[in-house]
Amino acid sequence: MVMSNPRDPRYDILFEPIKIGPVTAPNRFYQVPHCNGMGRMFPDSMIEMRGMKAEGGWGIVTTEQCDFHPTGDVQPFTETRMWDDADLPYLSAMVDAVHAHGALAGIELVHNGQDSGCLYSREVPIGPEHRPVTWHQHPIQARAMSRSDIRDYRRWHRKAVLRARQAGFDMVVVYAGHDGTVPSHFLSRKSNQRSDEYGGSLENRLRLYRELIEETKDAIGDTMAVVARFAVDEMMGKDGLEWAGEGKEAIEMLAELPDMWDVNVSDWENDSMTSRFAQEGYQEEYISFVKSVTSKPVSAVGRYTSPDTMVSAIRRGLVDIIGAARPSIADPFLPNKIKQGRPEDIRECIGCNICAAWNNLSAPSRCTQNPTMGEEWRKKWHPEKIAPKESDATILIVGAGPAGLEAALGLGQRGYQVTLAEARSETGGRVTRESRLPELNEWARVRDYRLGQIKRRPNVEIYLESELNVDQILEFGADHVALATGAIWRNDGVGRNIRFPVPGCSALTPDDIMDGKRPATSGSAVTIYDDDHYYMGSVIAELLVSEGYRVTLATQGLCVASWTEYTLEQRHIEKRLLESGVQILTRQELTEVGSDELWLTNTLTQEVSRHEGSVVSVTARLPRDELFGGLKGKIPVRRIGDCFGPSIIAAAVYEGHRYAREFDTEIDPDGVPFNRTGYQLQH
Ligand code: ADP
Ligand code: SF4
Repeated sequence: MVMSNPRDPRYDILFEPIKIGPVTAPNRFYQVPHCNGMGRMFPDSMIEMRGMKAEGGWGIVTTEQCDFHPTGDVQPFTETRMWDDADLPYLSAMVDAVHAHGALAGIELVHNGQDSGCLYSREVPIGPEHRPVTWHQHPIQARAMSRSDIRDYRRWHRKAVLRARQAGFDMVVVYAGHDGTVPSHFLSRKSNQRSDEYGGSLENRLRLYRELIEETKDAIGDTMAVVARFAVDEMMGKDGLEWAGEGKEAIEMLAELPDMWDVNVSDWENDSMTSRFAQEGYQEEYISFVKSVTSKPVSAVGRYTSPDTMVSAIRRGLVDIIGAARPSIADPFLPNKIKQGRPEDIRECIGCNICAAWNNLSAPSRCTQNPTMGEEWRKKWHPEKIAPKESDATILIVGAGPAGLEAALGLGQRGYQVTLAEARSETGGRVTRESRLPELNEWARVRDYRLGQIKRRPNVEIYLESELNVDQILEFGADHVALATGAIWRNDGVGRNIRFPVPGCSALTPDDIMDGKRPATSGSAVTIYDDDHYYMGSVIAELLVSEGYRVTLATQGLCVASWTEYTLEQRHIEKRLLESGVQILTRQELTEVGSDELWLTNTLTQEVSRHEGSVVSVTARLPRDELFGGLKGKIPVRRIGDCFGPSIIAAAVYEGHRYAREFDTEIDPDGVPFNRTGYQLQH
């Protein structure tokens, strides 16, 4: 049972209802449209996930972008779709799931225009002018919309609005944001050089958006709220819309037209910045003017997780409603936790964008902090509820990294007696260590949330500076052992692309760097060889360059940190590295290492180059699973997290959680371990 404390009256303002056109939101928490990789492809998962947000207290819960015409087909993204009435049942089911908890349901209608590849529909994309589509340098063009195309487009939008009402939604979000929709393409000077009444002056470029809002109001404005989701700054300086210039003028021109403003910056990479590049409330400087030019309620995002910051944003007159995507993913129950006077229970988003990455991979979103994200229906995992224990078994968990901490917390919540032994003098494993690397400090929230929860549970004991061996583990006498002992980075160059040890290579690794070891003396040359392609190579480059080393980052990739394309970080990372003087070499393989020298080979031309200095290798990790061999057969033992399969932090948390959930349960090793959406054939 959840214990409620009296709520701090300072937070009362967050729970005041607010009228938005013809509807009233029960509080100031707005789960803004956010992609989730479930959408139309995994509708059961999407529905349950949205319903969970409403259960957790979000007063407004919206869909992700919902494409409303085949010329704006969002494939390969697995988002919602409303092309005709056949799409209504699952959207109505989502509305019902949201309404069941007293929240308003919103829908964000989208036509991606010149961003659409139309991969599935095979229609010709459309936009303000003839332009190659922007999506992945896809080799097709969007054609310029004629006046009659614009009339068609407006009709499609109006029909979608009426369908949204049919589905039961309370709000329609008219979307001109993220540089990814037809109205935003018309608005942007860089993509609209038309000479008719839809191009040229700001008034003309804004015409289509104005028409969409007016027509939406006209179609459903008596019963549903009309929200303008609008990017006030394109973050391109004078070449684009700037909040202090046309961004502000545009809002002034439409000020009283919508029922609510939901403002942000574009594109998505700038809006959803990771904590490495932006802190809580980072959009305030761009959106602070909006309330001064409209009397309508205003909402904005800023990865707000602290109720004090939220209250301050309202009290300072920045916003009326707190918008959130990632904080609502990391903790669907964030509003209720504030309401019940227990803000310390909030699972704060760490700003890693793993959620966005999975969406960008066209797979159901995952969350580093919230292992139940995407599993609400698939596995029937509730973020705040877990089954009570099935036995009086005792469990020893070895290793207090994210996997060990999460397993201990879950088992503790179930009522089991748990002992967590950690070799080091601090908990958190890799998240503690990595959070000390440049700009990764928020990652420590993975540890802090779990530790905070565990410390209030008398049935979970933590022992630090307790490096256990096989005999000690057996001697301890627990009924079950979970090994969450993590993994170590290799130093021989072997990794994704290099299959055999590199001659002469016994490089420093990220573990060494985090232990304080350094290559030679400051000022010397260092080559970081990155065959990992995620964040680690680039953060070590940042660290070493800040300490005075001359840093080269060499990778087999086509760009540095290529996987961070999915976390929306690649551009920011490469820019930062270049600005800090890191030399970047792509398509390079480490082929030999000598004393204070190394050789790289171009993977296409086979041209070999010699470089002075030492090597830090970021290639692959090996599980620290030596204990397993000694324990197997003597005691029930499981490996979890990186000890079982080295992966991202989100996977370690998930595996720890899974261990706790499944403990004392029979799992069929031959079965599919989750529910799957059934597909109905049409023939
Ligand atoms: P994961 O991501 O899977 O949680 P981490 O590497 O973050 O893995 O954490 C593993 C933790 O296990 C580290 O803090 C490490 O110090 C600890 N550890 C490793 N071996 C032992 C051992 N034999 N006894 C106790 N703790 C250990
Ligand atoms: Fe936040 Fe990371 Fe979870 Fe996304 S995956 S909600 S950024 S903690």
